[in-house]
Amino acid sequence: MQHIIDRFISYVTIDSQSDPESETTPSTKKQWDIARKLAKDLESIGMEEVSLDNKGYIMATLASNCEEAIPVIGFISHYDTSPDFSGKDVKPRVIPEYDGKDIVLHEKDSILLSPSYFEELSQYKGQTLIVTDGTTLLGADDKAGITEIITAMEFLIRNPEIKHGKIRVGFTPDEEIGRGAHHFDVEKFGADWAYTVDGSQIGELEYENFNAASAHITASGKSVHPGYAKGKMVNAISLINRLIAQLPEKEVPEHTEGREGFFHIHKLSGSIEQAELEMIIRDHDLESFEKRKALLKELVASLNLENEACFSIEVKDQYFNMKEKITPVFHIVEIAKEAMESVGVTPIIKPIRGGTDGSQLSYMGLPCPNIFAGGHNFHGKYEYLPVQSMMKAVDVIVKICEITRNKKLQPHERN
Ligand SMILES: [Zn+2]
Repeated sequence: MQHIIDRFISYVTIDSQSDPESETTPSTKKQWDIARKLAKDLESIGMEEVSLDNKGYIMATLASNCEEAIPVIGFISHYDTSPDFSGKDVKPRVIPEYDGKDIVLHEKDSILLSPSYFEELSQYKGQTLIVTDGTTLLGADDKAGITEIITAMEFLIRNPEIKHGKIRVGFTPDEEIGRGAHHFDVEKFGADWAYTVDGSQIGELEYENFNAASAHITASGKSVHPGYAKGKMVNAISLINRLIAQLPEKEVPEHTEGREGFFHIHKLSGSIEQAELEMIIRDHDLESFEKRKALLKELVASLNLENEACFSIEVKDQYFNMKEKITPVFHIVEIAKEAMESVGVTPIIKPIRGGTDGSQLSYMGLPCPNIFAGGHNFHGKYEYLPVQSMMKAVDVIVKICEITRNKKLQPHERN
């Protein structure tokens, strides 16, 4: 256990926060620090074809150790941490045999990690937890995934009696700012399918995410002295208000869950002359996603008829539900499920109410469900990681390699 803890700590103590304002890749220079270390670590455990390209993408190979032709599979995670909370000077603390009570993260500021607020904590009673000192995030998202993949590869290298096909490993920068897949060379990676190891609690297995679009709506008005405005003034703020009033009231984030889609207005600004609205549209179902976008355009068109073309609208697709790409190769989900069950982990399959790098990669030709990395409360000071979950993730990765070989699947089933 100490080995995996040490490896994890060696990664989270390197600051690798990404920055959405930057236009370079990686978005921050400091991400190179961990990228270089990871490339070196992959080499030192005996991985082959280790490459670190000029955008910070790392790839490596574990060669097949059996005769037959087996699909090439991959494991992917990201080494940047969220810009939402500081990742500088992370001081992880290991709590052996967690007693199920409140954990004092920061004495002076009375910052508590408490099972009465974070109920999932209770299920880890008796296990070893890694927590923060209350001033930074932990970085288990996704350095837990990285630690697990490297540890699983090391285990396979040291136990050659476990037969497997060619395995590819990919580590990316900038996932937290939505760009982790942008420069991922799917062809160079050369896998038939892959798994992102970037989920939260033990058992998570995800292959559905939102279809996503953004909409930018502008209303143009006419400013006239309010005392003499009758029949002349057009108030852009009122126009935008009328549009908002016509949207389905209950189809918003605060009233939806599971597979229910929504419209979400996240920015509103304006004056009499001009008002602007920024919105996102989300839906798991492709047909109702298209209907939502059409509804918005129809509303704008009908308001334009009444108000002499005062509105303009721009709708942009952002990403799509990977389920479309996973369903035709559903055995890749079955393999992950079987791997979890065979090491005593109950799969928790649920739709992601967001997007993942895996969804982008799936549309780039690399079907890519997501499996758990084990941490909780990502992107903040309450982030924690049960070490036993991390060890189970290692077992699951090893099992996926083993089961893929035993299934006797033909390679290149990629479509
Ligand atoms: Zn992540």
